[in-house]
Amino acid sequence: MSSELNQLHAEVRACVKCGLHATRTQAVPGVGPCPADIMIVGEAPGFNEDRQGEPFVGAAGKLLDTLLARIGLGRSDVYITNVLKCRPPQNRDPMPNEVESCSPYLARQLSMIKPKVVLILGRHAKPKVVLILGRHALERLLPGQGSISRIHGSLVRRGDVAFVPLFHPAAALHNGALVADLEHDFDRVKAYLDKLLAPPPPPEPVPVPKQEAEQLRLL
Ligand code: URA
Repeated sequence: MSSELNQLHAEVRACVKCGLHATRTQAVPGVGPCPADIMIVGEAPGFNEDRQGEPFVGAAGKLLDTLLARIGLGRSDVYITNVLKCRPPQNRDPMPNEVESCSPYLARQLSMIKPKVVLILGRHAKPKVVLILGRHALERLLPGQGSISRIHGSLVRRGDVAFVPLFHPAAALHNGALVADLEHDFDRVKAYLDKLLAPPPPPEPVPVPKQEAEQLRLL
């Protein structure tokens, strides 16, 4: 990990910018290689993450691991973090002031990790709920793109980075029907990755001007 990212993680662990520092066990800055082609952004740490200091280590994390494995990826291939770095009490939804205080960390992570693809995990599957709550992940990264129910699985390009909003694995733990959506979306993610991360084709051979070729032949 780069020392700049280490420094950022240390700042996050010591952060007292919003009220969540008072109720957390510890902050959860993020984990994974830097730079990384793929970055995954969830919403906020839950019970297990707050205890262990790592994102996605509970039941939702297990499902995420299965989905990553489905497309040939493991934890060591991706940088994982959340919009909020501290657990909201009882896993309640993030409050606007908390998102506001925490967002500069996410912006700095994006600029250090330099991902080519960002997978955004939205927690709430119901459109109405997403418009109000899922906004935190979606609106932060893709302002004005609409609800996760409408755009999940699609590729949204912003500058050099491709974003893919996805249902949150925790939503699929509550609503089994979403597992099939997630599997289908991860298959689409694989197709995007194969295309976006493919090595560039070898350069076309530069034609040697005729006169030069003749000179080379004489050597
Ligand atoms: N849900 C999230 O959004 N993030 C985690 O780290 C764990 C569960």
